[in-house]
Amino acid sequence: MQVTDHIHAIKIPFAVSTRFVYAYLIYGKKICMIDSGISSAKEKILGYLKQTGRAPQEINLIVQTHSHADHIGLSAEIKKISGCKVAAHGAEQAWIEDIEEQYRRRPTPTFRSYVHDSTKVDWVAKDGDLLDLGDGENLKVIHTPGHSPGSISLVYPADGALFSGDAVPLAGGLPIYSDVFVMIQSLRKLQTVKGLQALFSSWHDPIQGEKVYRTMDEALAYMQKVHEVVRKENAAAPSLDSRELTIRVLMNLGLPESLLSPIVVTTIEAHQKVGQYPSILTL
Ligand SMILES: [Zn+2]
Repeated sequence: MQVTDHIHAIKIPFAVSTRFVYAYLIYGKKICMIDSGISSAKEKILGYLKQTGRAPQEINLIVQTHSHADHIGLSAEIKKISGCKVAAHGAEQAWIEDIEEQYRRRPTPTFRSYVHDSTKVDWVAKDGDLLDLGDGENLKVIHTPGHSPGSISLVYPADGALFSGDAVPLAGGLPIYSDVFVMIQSLRKLQTVKGLQALFSSWHDPIQGEKVYRTMDEALAYMQKVHEVVRKENAAAPSLDSRELTIRVLMNLGLPESLLSPIVVTTIEAHQKVGQYPSILTL
């Protein structure tokens, strides 16, 4: 669906849960894609381009907010069709260019069904870079680690838009990050970006107007809540291992146990690591 003058959002549901991911298209003279979704979304994305009078060959840049499988699923294929460049932060490059390495280090159960091929990164982006989109427009790179070391967010001034990948947790949703402090710092960095009118996250439906900044406030408050639940459950039963503790935390947050996975356990362990400094997290 078209959300702003230039930005189109494609919602890609996951087969195994109620969760989803978004891929975004910025329509100018050429097309810039922000993340490419999962491999099974090929027909949906190509169909959307056709239906809106555009062609995949017009895509000249894919920007990866980070390397996880649900964000790079179609990058290799679209690059093959269009000859586009792929941009990503240097800290994500290895996992995009070698998906087997990513799978070895982060073996998510759905990995194989989400991505099939590695993709070469042509443009190693860093904080403050401006990615030229042609037409005098650009994307400004903001390094927002925490969910992953090289997560980036992108400001598109032409439409007052921010693309945040997985850097803004969904309040009430599954918390996934590997470093609590760094994640909070990144969220606070995003809160300082002025003049935003639209937020395009991978975990939220597109958000516009005053809700943009409120969503970031809610994300921080949710991280605080998760932290308090982890501390409480940990204190109540200090002998629990990380997996058992994570199950208790999920239940306390009202999330089903079926969402338990090693990556959520990592989040809970990250909160445990800052347990002795609770005041630092207080908002
Ligand atoms: Zn991710």
